[in-house]
Amino acid sequence: MNENVLEKLKVLAESAKYDVSCASSGTSRSGKKGMIGSAAGWGICHSFAEDGRCISLLKIMLTNNCMYDCAYCINRRSNDLPRATLSVTELVNLTIEFYRRNYIEGLFLSSGVVRSPDYTMERLVRVIKDLRLVHRFNGYIHMKSIPGASQELVNEAGLYADRLSVNIEIPNEKSLQVLAPEKDFKSVFAPMRYIQQGVLQSAEERKRFRHAPRFAPAGQSTQMIVGATADTDKDILRLSSALYQRPTMKRVYYSGFIPVNDYDNRLPALKQPPLVRENRLYQADWLLRFYEFKVDEIVNDAYPELDLEVDPKLSWALRNPHMFPVDINKADYELLLRVPGIGVKSAKMIIVSRRYSRLGSEQLKKIGVVMKKAQYFITCHELAMRTVNELTPENVRHILIQKKGKQFDDRQLTFQFRD
Ligand code: SF4
Repeated sequence: MNENVLEKLKVLAESAKYDVSCASSGTSRSGKKGMIGSAAGWGICHSFAEDGRCISLLKIMLTNNCMYDCAYCINRRSNDLPRATLSVTELVNLTIEFYRRNYIEGLFLSSGVVRSPDYTMERLVRVIKDLRLVHRFNGYIHMKSIPGASQELVNEAGLYADRLSVNIEIPNEKSLQVLAPEKDFKSVFAPMRYIQQGVLQSAEERKRFRHAPRFAPAGQSTQMIVGATADTDKDILRLSSALYQRPTMKRVYYSGFIPVNDYDNRLPALKQPPLVRENRLYQADWLLRFYEFKVDEIVNDAYPELDLEVDPKLSWALRNPHMFPVDINKADYELLLRVPGIGVKSAKMIIVSRRYSRLGSEQLKKIGVVMKKAQYFITCHELAMRTVNELTPENVRHILIQKKGKQFDDRQLTFQFRD
């Protein structure tokens, strides 16, 4: 490989690493004759597929030059760091070369903004268009859409990318204006709307014409930074919940704020990213998407922040002891899902298994129920345990909190803003 391109690659891959919204799921296209690559059966970026395969995407920026100066971003224009820009041809060749060498199975492409949103977007589109049309690349492509890009360019990108995403970054427009004064919600939400229109229009056309082109078949995703502003978990999750009402929004990613620009007084002085909080947000997000929870049940005006010591479902159960105990042999699916220690899979298996016999604690363990938690919230055949109401929520909470040393309370640090 050309030394110059290799140097650029090092700089640009380093600059791209802070973006976490690169899951590769959502596409089922399989290999095609005369094309290279396959997007079938893919799992999570930089993680493992359902079949145990490690998924590898080339995660790279077209350029880390940027005309904006977002306070939370390593690539902001006022930072003095090595800069690089790949030409469209260099990036296309790099992707194909890496694919042929079996280093990668797809591409996650983003960019700083140079000259204008449309100028940058046009170059990104040329990369993925060349990959698809010239090189017949059939692997997974996730492309970041540039905030403020025109509808025409977003529409074109959707014809070649599996997934498009636009990062919201900051969940509140006022906070965004403080940290990224050159951006606004309009420039972020407009491309999101274009993507949605493209996906829905394509679905309609494909009902009438079988061979009408597909538009971003893996939908769209976004990312929010957690802990860079004083916005609460309630603010973040309410926005996520509203986004999930949109038919094409597949995933909201949460990225614990990494203090890369600690000289900027608008940012909190964190010693380390709020990873516990980030994890709790992912758990709450899971409850919204798969457990039929409403956002106000998880966070609300009385409880604007997630409990860092226990997971959001257990936290909800401890605040609502009147809902328990749940009779495992009678409760409907929705109620089973509310029990701490019972997941989607085990709730479904309980419904099926109890048709044949009354379930007791041994069967529940075999089904995969985490009895360590569930025992305080259920009644079932042969289970003479004391429930949350007899023990009190405070005591159950105390029992279930595993105190492995003093837990790091990252939220306290989040609000230590400097003067
Ligand atoms: S526009 Fe994107 S790349 Fe540029 S400074 Fe802001 S977050 Fe960073």
